[in-house]
Parts: sequence; C-alpha cells; structure tokens
Amino acid sequence: MAPAEARIAVVTVATYVIAADGLTKRYPPDVTALAGVTFAVAPGEFVAVLGPSGAGKTTLFRCLTGLTRPDRGAVTINGHDIWTSPRELSLARRQVALIFQQFDLIRRLEALENVLVGRLAHVPTWRVVLRRFTRADRQLALASLHTVGLLDRAYTRADELSGGQQQRVAIARALAQNAKIILADEPVASLDPESSATVLESLRSAVSTGVAVVASLHQVHLARAYADRIVALRGGRIVADAPAARLDARSIEQIYERDGERGA
Ligand code: ADP
Repeated sequence: MAPAEARIAVVTVATYVIAADGLTKRYPPDVTALAGVTFAVAPGEFVAVLGPSGAGKTTLFRCLTGLTRPDRGAVTINGHDIWTSPRELSLARRQVALIFQQFDLIRRLEALENVLVGRLAHVPTWRVVLRRFTRADRQLALASLHTVGLLDRAYTRADELSGGQQQRVAIARALAQNAKIILADEPVASLDPESSATVLESLRSAVSTGVAVVASLHQVHLARAYADRIVALRGGRIVADAPAARLDARSIEQIYERDGERGA
C-alpha cells in the first residue's frame, strides 16, 4: 500500500469512537423522544448537545450509555454495536465514563481515592478491599488530577471541595479509568459561571489527551466557547450539526425560538 493510502486507511478506522445511527425512541402512549438521530464523534472531539427542554437530550444520553434501548437504530462504540450481545454492552461500558449534573463522588474519601475508584475495573479485588493500589495506579491518578488542575487538592476530602472541583475530580476519575469517551449530562447545570468555566476547561484538557466528549449544555455561549461542534436537538430531531464557530445567532434562535428558551 502506498503511504498516502495507508494513512487514509488508518484515519478511516480511527475516525469515530462513538456513533448514533438513526436512533428512534418512543414512550407510551405517543411521545416520540428521538426520531432518527444520527451523528458521530471522533477521538479528541468535544461535541455539545443543545436543545430546549423536552428536545430528547436525556433520552439520547441514556441511549448512548446503553441505559435505554432505542426502538430503532444503533449505537456503536469503536465500531461495535453495543446491543449485539451483553458482552458488547459490557465492553462498551468500560470505554465510557459518565459525568452527571449531581456530583457523584464518595464524599468521605479524598480526591485521590475517588480518582482511584476509576481503576476498580482494572485491579484485582483484594487491592480494592485493602485499598492497596499499585504505585503505577497512584501515579496515573495523580497525573489525571494534574490534567484537571487539581493536583494540590489530591488529599482533600471530596466533601470539602467546591462543586466545580468535585466535577473536575469526576473528570480525573474518567481519565484514570482510561475511558475513551466521556458522556456528560448537564455537567455544569448547577455551577456558578466561574466554576462552569473551570469544569469545561478540564473537559477540554481531557479532549487534548484524545478522549471524545459529548456534553449536554444549556448555555449556548458556553457551547460556542468550549465545544468543537454543536449538535442541536429539537422535538427529537437534529436541527443543526455544525462546527461551534460556524453556528450563527440565527441558527441558534431557530433551535429555541418556539419555546422562548435561550442560554445567556
Ligand atoms: P430533554 O432532556 O431534552 O429535556 P428528554 O429526553 O428528557 O428531553 O424528553 C424527551 C421527551 O420524552 C419529552 O417529551 C419527555 O416528556 C418524554 N419522556 C422522557 N422520558 C420519558 C418516560 N420515561 N416516559 C414517558 N415520556 C418520557
């Protein structure tokens, strides 16, 4: 194979790490939460999902994480359809880390220990029970805290950290887990503007390590400032899918206009 062809082949294989293909989900009696949603995310790409309430964002996240099975369509992670078999689903879940609006750290444990929780799937049970993580695991956890700018808080208990710091520890935990994809459902919804910025910067740091991030955000200006691409949902359909810098004010108005709902 000529060098150029070889390069194209590699790019093709590595192009998308997670993809939704024609996702459709209805709830009885007659709500169509998703209607043929198709998009894909590349490694090292930050996609913000925007849309008014009821647009289908939560349902989309539940489908991407395998918590909800779509009526039609497929979710593929690294090219594998997660619903092919229970094994595919469990393998897929290992590659995905979830970040929620409510910080889900273990409050009485230090930040470093919370990040080490991300290593649980990778270490023998006895090490977990005795909390005897290897030096390599601890170094990885410290490096992950460094990536999100919280190395100096490694030995602070989670319940002594601010909301934004806790959310960044959750991002560090995802990195320590070696997750290839971070799915963040409204990660900054309950944070003040300054903390929101630091959390989104931490997600950008994750992206710079090659992780793909899909995050639902309420505020358009944050999506434009931090995401590479914006996927806008409305009534269960994608109404815009464009590089964040290219989505103009008019397109954004169209996403929200009927509901009179718009981020600052
Ligand atoms: P968003 O997160 O954008 O607010 P959702 O995915 O939560 O949107 O909801 C999309 C639509 O599906 C809404 O009309 C909502 O009322 C409906 N819906 C969501 N979950 C359920 C459910 N478990 N049962 C019935 N309807 C639901």
